[in-house]
Amino acid sequence: MEPKDALLELRKKQGLSQDEMAAKLFVTRQAVSRWENGETVPNTDTLKVIAKTFGASINTLLGQPRNLICQVCGMPLEDGENYSKEADGVVNDQYCKWCYYDGGFHVAQTVDQFIEDILPHQSWGTPDEIRAFLRKQLPQLAYWQK
Ligand SMILES: [Zn+2]
Repeated sequence: MEPKDALLELRKKQGLSQDEMAAKLFVTRQAVSRWENGETVPNTDTLKVIAKTFGASINTLLGQPRNLICQVCGMPLEDGENYSKEADGVVNDQYCKWCYYDGGFHVAQTVDQFIEDILPHQSWGTPDEIRAFLRKQLPQLAYWQK
């Protein structure tokens, strides 16, 4: 998705007119109109304000493909509600809100420790099945490759 489409979709979802969106972002209606026509793209500061105001991710606003799973625990992030946030409120779409918050990670040091921590929250199989699955899946995620 291109930025212009992402911005238009965001505004429609919020049920706002161009005027209303412009007022929330302290820009002119013409600026919003230019973004949606694809004539201009919001600058970085404005993107941050948009992301913060509407709980959207900057990557999504820029039309970049989303990482659909948390890069720590593998949880799907597709509905957007599980996105983590930076300390300043900007959405971080790499991680879920349980693994990353207040500007830092809140996870165990090792994969095995982490699996034991999240095991009680998983209910799709026996503990051994879940352990075996996570031991395979987690090392493929960006966080554990560091
Ligand atoms: Zn997570």
